[in-house]
Amino acid sequence: MSGRLFEQEGREHIQCFDPRSGAETETIACTPIESIPDMVAQSRLAQTEWWGQGLKRRKWAIQDLHESFLGSADDFAALLAEECGRPAGEAWTSEIVANHHLFKYWLSHIDDLLTAFPIGLSPIDYPGKRGRVVLEPKGVIGLITPWNLPVAIPLRAMIPALLSGNSVVLKPSEHTPRIGALLGQLCDRHLPPGVVQIVQGGGAQGAAMVDAKPDQIFFTGSVRTGRQVAASAATHGVKVGLELGGKDAALVMEDAEIERAAAGITWAAFGFGGQNCAAVERCYVHESIFPAFLEQVIARTKALRPLIDLGPLVTEAQLHIVQQHVTEAAQAGATIHTGGQAPGPGFYHEPTVITDAPHDSRLLREETFGPVLPIVPYSDLDEAIEWINGTHFGLTTSVWTKNLELGEALAPAFECGVVTVNNHSFTGALPDSVWCGVKDTGEGVTNSRFALYEMVRPRTILVDSMKGPREMWWYPYNDALTKVTKGMITLATPGGSRLDGVKSALTGLLNRWKADN
Ligand code: NAD
Repeated sequence: MSGRLFEQEGREHIQCFDPRSGAETETIACTPIESIPDMVAQSRLAQTEWWGQGLKRRKWAIQDLHESFLGSADDFAALLAEECGRPAGEAWTSEIVANHHLFKYWLSHIDDLLTAFPIGLSPIDYPGKRGRVVLEPKGVIGLITPWNLPVAIPLRAMIPALLSGNSVVLKPSEHTPRIGALLGQLCDRHLPPGVVQIVQGGGAQGAAMVDAKPDQIFFTGSVRTGRQVAASAATHGVKVGLELGGKDAALVMEDAEIERAAAGITWAAFGFGGQNCAAVERCYVHESIFPAFLEQVIARTKALRPLIDLGPLVTEAQLHIVQQHVTEAAQAGATIHTGGQAPGPGFYHEPTVITDAPHDSRLLREETFGPVLPIVPYSDLDEAIEWINGTHFGLTTSVWTKNLELGEALAPAFECGVVTVNNHSFTGALPDSVWCGVKDTGEGVTNSRFALYEMVRPRTILVDSMKGPREMWWYPYNDALTKVTKGMITLATPGGSRLDGVKSALTGLLNRWKADN
């Protein structure tokens, strides 16, 4: 693994590794478990003050954080290389430029998104009343995050959470603690003490964070851990957003633009070394173009340069999973067209293209989370869709076709949260779009107003300026009330509003009720 926990002088530490070479780098002290409840308590105090500052001041602070983030871009890129083996091209596009857009989006939309909703109150039914729904912060947001997008995943939650007046306790992955520490340092520079705190460590620290009962948890990681977190949070009555694993499929139809589909799917399978929750892990190709498509994908895959186009696996444990999936498929009769080896040094695995893997192999059913692309021919579209929906995951699916209308029309057929036509996976970087899944992928939401709504609590505020002694629906109940309400329903029935007689009778009844009361 690239972050191994060990104990020294009674204190837990993380030994960091460079996954490109396997060489040890820094050690980072873990947060003592017993201090985590206090951190959440401090976060709660800091949150009250932070919210009290008002949105304008919070925006100034986040603008400063944005500037510092841009000023530290080289440091983030360097750490992404050292902790994740991330090639520079990927680090800059997915973790620097995309996060720059993320800051800009939230800073320019947050005023609108937090604006109160007026409540529709008819002056006839509810005279003298006005009301609105305001959005208030939930309080302390606990973020438990993975190693595969160690800057973007925390920031996608942190920025809207902070702007809407929450405080944040972030636990970065034990495999990327230095990136977590750098995020914490930038926040310390621009935000009041305690508003963002970093918990360093592994599962024990994550579990302690859940037990410390923040007001909301956002968890991104594996299905197994997500289930544990959800179960533990449920015992505390804490709500959890879960963004878990994936086994994304690409469907290449017979009229697809083969060159674009081969280029896009090669990128989507091997980008991040395949360690992308939305990596293409299964590719179903119409039999009529299968040989041409396969040939192009193999050629493109062979051209990938180690550590320039494709980084290593971030952990040794992940490398073993990838090797197991490939070996099992090969033993079951699959053909490896290119790759298949982990030559070292470090945790690098060759980009691998496989055909003939059995439908029930782990390679086609479970998350591999590595640079392996199994390709399967299909002849019947319905059957291909059945295969695509045949896993317990549901994050994204892509359809590759020149017939854009057909591609779009197929969207509802897929059991997943995101469907793209002639592209794959990049929509996670669009702050205005919704990143979400179904089934075991979890129903957590990242990005857009829908993510913000998970971080705020709506509150209704109603103000009544009526001075009369009572409302129509207050005690005592009498015949006049029954007649007025029955009249309202008569008016509401089809054609009712055209019944002038009913209207004038209702007005008369209302006047009589007012005079009596
Ligand atoms: P993981 O589940 O091993 O760890 C995730 C986080 O949980 C880490 O910070 C870890 O320290 C912490 N943790 C471990 N045990 C815990 C416990 N008992 N209680 C609380 N926290 C605990 O996942 P990982 O290997 O870091 O990440 C890879 C997984 O994340 C893949 O399955 C990938 O698909 C998924 N992922 C999903 C999305 C998405 O948007 N759906 C995005 C990125 C990654």
